Formats: sequence, C-alpha cells, structure tokens
Amino acid sequence: MTTTNTMEAARVELLLSELRLPGFKLSWAKVAEQSDKEGWPAARFLAVLAEHEMADRSRRRIERHLAEARLPAGKTLATFDFDSVPMVSKAQVLALASGDAWLGKGANILLFGPPGGGKSHLSAALGLALVENGRRVLFARTSDLVQRLQVARRELALEAAIAKLDRYDLLILDDLAYVTKDQAETSVLFELIAARYERRSMLITANQPFGEWGKVFPDPAMTLAAVDRLVHHATIIEMNVESYRRRAALERKRAAGRPPSRLTAKQLAADSDNQTSA
Ligand code: ADP
Ligand code: MG
Repeated sequence: MTTTNTMEAARVELLLSELRLPGFKLSWAKVAEQSDKEGWPAARFLAVLAEHEMADRSRRRIERHLAEARLPAGKTLATFDFDSVPMVSKAQVLALASGDAWLGKGANILLFGPPGGGKSHLSAALGLALVENGRRVLFARTSDLVQRLQVARRELALEAAIAKLDRYDLLILDDLAYVTKDQAETSVLFELIAARYERRSMLITANQPFGEWGKVFPDPAMTLAAVDRLVHHATIIEMNVESYRRRAALERKRAAGRPPSRLTAKQLAADSDNQTSA
C-alpha cells in the first residue's frame, strides 16, 4: 500500500466507526482487494459490502434476542423426540415455529400435560426456533414473572412493567400451576393476560387444563375471564404422556436385560424422585 492508500484506509475506518457500520468496517478491506483485483463496478462493490452489513446486523440482533429470551439451555426441536408424544403433530409444531400465522394476531398456545411429559422442553424449543426466525421471546417460570409484576405493582409501576413486555412477540409462562396462593391474590397475572389479549402472544404450560386455574386467580369471575381470553385464539396441545425421564429410565433397565416385571415399587419410586427437579 502507498502512503496515500494507507491514509485513505485509516480515514475509511474512522468514518465507518462514526457511521456505526461495523459490518462494513470488518469486511471492506478484503472486499476492496477482491474488487480491485477483479475490476468490479462500484455498484457491485457497494452491494456486497451492504450485504455484509445486513448479515452482521441480523446475526447480532439474534444474539441479543437469544440472550434476553432466557431460554433453558439445550432444549431444541432437534433434540425433541416427537415419537414419544404421538398426540403432538410434528408438522404442526414446525409450522408454529415459523411464527407467521399466529404471532401477528396475538394468538396463544396452551400446553397441557403431567410433569415430565416434555412441556418445558417443547416450549423452550419453540421459543428458540422463533428467536432464530427473528422473533423476540421471553421464557419465564410463571411464579417468577408474577413475582416481578407484584413488585412493580407495589411500586405503582405495574402498567409500565406490562407495557415493557410488549417488546416480546411471545411470552412463555412455564408452569402456571406453581403460582402460589399469595401470588394469586393479586391480579397481576390477569392484568398481563388482559393487556396482551389479541395483541401479543403467550405460550402457557400447565399440568392441568383449567381445572386448577381457580387457584391462580383471585376469584372465579376473573378465572373465567382469563381463560376466556387465553383460549379465544389458541392452539391447545395436550401432552398426556408418561414422564419422559421415567420412560427413559425404564428403557435403560430393559436394555440392561432386566424385564420390566422385575422392577420393584421401590425402583419406580426412585425414578419418580429423579424427575422432580426440572
Ligand atoms: P415438563 O415440563 O412437562 O414437566 P420437561 O420438558 O421438563 O417436562 O421434560 C423432562 C425432561 O425430559 C427434560 O430433560 C426434557 O428435555 C426431557 N424430555 C421430555 N420429553 C422429551 C421428548 N419428547 N424428547 C426429548 N426429551 C424429552
Ligand atoms: Mg416443566
């Protein structure tokens, strides 16, 4: 490089920093070299650089959205065994993972099933796929989010806190059933559901389809109103399968050559103890 070129290059770097074009800045020198060598028209050189900038921005945006989503690690659609939940249609789940048909109109997903059946895994995997498709998602244990909203309410900032959640195309509330009694006595969860109704989507997982929901809201009328809003535009997926971990443990024992008939009640109890953690 001549001195003039070096000075030009330094100027370009400075200008690109000032313009906040990190993708340009990262790739322009290499692209320029190729462009000079192959005699590209100026428009081509610019277009290639602009594409780099676009790709770089999109990558960084997805990285940010992934960090803010707080998804549990390692739960992907690729590692979800659809064969073990025959009532769940893989095609339907993959369609939902694009987000196109439902997020725009604030529709919901309700995932029901006994503990260990894969509700958290499937909802986190859906969340991950949606983030990768450019959507913004927040995964939260219901009781944690309710607690945060209760704090906001005490500080007279509930409305603002709920409005802040509008940035997420999808709010995943995992384990509705674990909202405690004192959390149910404030109506923050209802406020949240009412505020998002027909605007912003929610995915809610619960062990029980509606039966226990009376415990989650302050009174029956509010329970009904909440359920009404949630199901109005909702895909309901029931995962009535035995605990995945428990079945996996049984499989391992079978593979080890012990027929299932020889499993004692104690061993089965040990299996169910192992599944209480997630
Ligand atoms: P739930 O939320 O319904 O209680 P989880 O999603 O926590 O169940 O599932 C329990 C464990 O079993 C998790 O480690 C999860 O990754 C695994 N698991 C459950 N169902 C499946 C499945 N169909 N394919 C792969 N792993 C599964
Ligand atoms: Mg769970």
